[in-house]
Amino acid sequence: MYDIVVIGAGAAGLTAAIYGERAGMNVVVFEKMGVGGQILLTQDVENYPGFPAISGPELMERFEAHAKKFGVEIRYEEVGEVKRQDTHYRIVTDEGEYDTIAVVIATGSQPKKLHVDGEQKLIGRGVSYCAVCDGPFFKDREVAVIGGGDAAIKEAIYLTQIVKKIIVIHRRDKLRAEKILQDQAFKNPKISFIWNHVVDHVDGEDKFEGITIKDANDPTKKQKLDVAGVFVYIGHIPNTKFIDIVKKTSGGLIITDDCVHTSAKGIFAAGDCRVTCLRQIATCVGDGALAAFNAGEYVERFKSSHT
Ligand code: NAP
Repeated sequence: MYDIVVIGAGAAGLTAAIYGERAGMNVVVFEKMGVGGQILLTQDVENYPGFPAISGPELMERFEAHAKKFGVEIRYEEVGEVKRQDTHYRIVTDEGEYDTIAVVIATGSQPKKLHVDGEQKLIGRGVSYCAVCDGPFFKDREVAVIGGGDAAIKEAIYLTQIVKKIIVIHRRDKLRAEKILQDQAFKNPKISFIWNHVVDHVDGEDKFEGITIKDANDPTKKQKLDVAGVFVYIGHIPNTKFIDIVKKTSGGLIITDDCVHTSAKGIFAAGDCRVTCLRQIATCVGDGALAAFNAGEYVERFKSSHT
């Protein structure tokens, strides 16, 4: 039986694993894809203290090396269910079943889709959710970025290094992004804005042929934009469908207290998958440390009452 199972190998999960392992716990991390999580999609990280300029993939390589140095075991298996047993939990993956005393859920989130006609069928052929991955396909061309948050503006700024022109389309007339990003975007000659508009549909059958947007205040007013690609950055959906024994919001975010305890004893949630007011690498790291510390205390109490 493991002491702590960590689900997800992003910043929160790897931090929990490092803290858990260093505290003498027997820890395993389950990861369905690859180590790193959402940060892998960020080219330039500038707000993680100690690293004034580092790429997301490079930072996560360091997290992984750090975890491995302390002997953290990472298993590439997808968790399908967390089952409550009499005294502990059973983790069901696509490859097996594992028993554990405590669980840290650090499964992060995935990009939200527009849910408009043409979006799904043209993913990877003009519709993208990752500027770092797909930006180079649009070298010296014109693209649209949808959204007004940190991610949309940061990635629009990143795209200025590659493409000819970026049109940011936002559903309101004010950005949500932090001021420093807004200032950079407003003074960049490659970035222009269309305010109070949303995407009506993506044009093209087998081939991307631009997008049609509509006025958010008068949906009958539509215009076609002849862009080569569209990057969608309108927020994220938590990856929490696999767990139904903890309390969640209607949007699927796991509800925790300040010490990241969930509603189920012995289960903790860390990072973007939980209700929190800020989603940054720094806050994920803080959550991971809290989760491991409290999971460790829970494991110690469990062991002393079951011997
Ligand atoms: P976000 O902050 O939730 O912003 C989503 C944006 O998309 C908002 O501007 C929202 O409009 C818009 N939007 C939502 N649904 C839409 C729809 N259906 N159609 C059109 N527009 C829609 O999400 P995010 O930018 O992905 O950021 C998520 C978290 O990560 C935030 O906490 C953010 O601070 C953090 N982050 C930080 C950095 C950084 O470098 N500091 C970089 C990336 C992300 P409204 O404004 O009208 O709601």
